[in-house]
Amino acid sequence: MGGPDGGDGGRGAHIILRGNSNLWTLLHLRYYKNVLAEDGEGGSSNNSSGRSGKDVIIDVPLGTIARDEETGKQEVEILEDGQEVVWIPGGRGGLGNANFATSTNQAPEHSQPGEAGLEGWKVLELKVLADVGLVGFPNAGKSTLLSVITAAKPKIADYAFTTITPNLGIVEYREGKSFCIADLPGIIEGAAEGKGLGHRFLRHIERNSVLLFLIPADSDDHKKEFDILLNELEKFNPELLNKQFIIAISKSDMLDDELKAAIESELPENIPHLFISSLTNKGLTELKDMLWKVLNQPVV
Ligand code: GDP
Ligand code: MG
Repeated sequence: MGGPDGGDGGRGAHIILRGNSNLWTLLHLRYYKNVLAEDGEGGSSNNSSGRSGKDVIIDVPLGTIARDEETGKQEVEILEDGQEVVWIPGGRGGLGNANFATSTNQAPEHSQPGEAGLEGWKVLELKVLADVGLVGFPNAGKSTLLSVITAAKPKIADYAFTTITPNLGIVEYREGKSFCIADLPGIIEGAAEGKGLGHRFLRHIERNSVLLFLIPADSDDHKKEFDILLNELEKFNPELLNKQFIIAISKSDMLDDELKAAIESELPENIPHLFISSLTNKGLTELKDMLWKVLNQPVV
């Protein structure tokens, strides 16, 4: 008898995508297929509004594109750390009966129902796949390294900038973190001039954040081999030299401490280096740690 006092219903929860620069792949969402956002709460008497549903936030790496599966339409693109975009909005809450009181109808029994939520299949896709590019001559041990430090094989259908696809693998790092590594088909001498297939291959490298130079332990001249690789990259695109570099001496199971020291003394001092072996797994944990650290260094 005290007049209408039905509050408004709460909004249904949104499903929000958020950019996270610490993520490099979508692997953490592998088992997260059904995302359910809460309903809003109903309004109640005393004009109290219902609580909105708790939004679901999905962290994704930068470069993620969200599509509708049926139409294929791109709905969201995440490019910045912390960027939040409401991907699938929750339904608006209905208005309580207090909104419908008029001078002639002071006790309306009518209230507005809330808007229905949306339901459907959506697709997340990562535009830029490789974070670490392996650079080295044929036989440096690139494929072998990839086979021992990576698990998942990402789909490469959208690696669209070439007809030849690099070998990609995902390194599962600690605590569900992961990054992508690409075995770029071997650079040959003269590649930058377009000799052989090198030119096409080099295009991949432009996309990678870190370049991992693989120089085999049994190289005749490690420093020279590194310089030739650098030179090829520079001729192709001098900007590549602004990337972060790591040098790994591969097949170092063939080396004793004396040989290691000799190689070490030749290598450039300003570039981090380490000795690895895909055969004995030596140095591989350190390599992953180093790559992760460099990948996550703030870009200056
Ligand atoms: P890629 O051409 O750079 O991909 O080189 P591959 O991965 O195909 O390796 C070339 C050769 O080096 C193969 O015969 C491998 O078995 C060998 N190899 C690769 N990694 C190691 C290693 O850690 N130790 C040794 N001793 N040999 C290796
Ligand atoms: Mg290979």
